[in-house]
Amino acid sequence: MKALIVEDEPKIAQFIQKSLQSEYFVVDCAPDGEKGSYLARLHDYDIIILDNMLPYKTGLEVCKEIRNFGKNTPIIVLSVQTEVNQRITLLNAGADDYLMKPFSFEELHARMRALLRRPQHVSSDDLVLDTLVLNLDAHTVRRGEHEVHLTRKEFMLLYYLMKHRGNVLSRGTIMEHVWDMNADPFSNTIESHILSLRKKINIEGHRKLITTVSGRGYKIE
Ligand code: CA
Repeated sequence: MKALIVEDEPKIAQFIQKSLQSEYFVVDCAPDGEKGSYLARLHDYDIIILDNMLPYKTGLEVCKEIRNFGKNTPIIVLSVQTEVNQRITLLNAGADDYLMKPFSFEELHARMRALLRRPQHVSSDDLVLDTLVLNLDAHTVRRGEHEVHLTRKEFMLLYYLMKHRGNVLSRGTIMEHVWDMNADPFSNTIESHILSLRKKINIEGHRKLITTVSGRGYKIE
């Protein structure tokens, strides 16, 4: 899953980024409202963590721009105690939830899970395909009786493929959703990850699940 953090205080941004990465998120960061609004409209994030007091554009303005653009990405706004009146305005502007600074990561994580559990987004249940079972909560993958040990990236790649089973996913689409914006689009990183993922989930006696669609991309079914 991919998250965007819009926060001008580097320490807080870093704290959230590290915490989310340890929860298997791919994370992009924006240090101001202008860049945050741009990235939020350009990419399909699964969730956006948006500070309210930002340079160039406030969280409120960013929130309005994202919603006016037609994106319904879940947004959690970070605000401070003195902005009590702002919070109602923020919710009216399309924010899904808000969190008062200072907050613990446990609290942020709990709010995120609640938002991501909503039916239009990600369910926290097992994803099952043939004998392959991926559990998002425990970050585990099984193939029949076998436990499959994946790297963080392989896990995120498999999750993305399984979430879009049956669809041909181009390298560009995979790159956008599973790699952060600093990834080199011309490297062969996707190919090599697909290769190692195949090796790990193609266990003898089980059906092969990932196919290469020549010139178009990859598909799991
Ligand atoms: Ca701030």
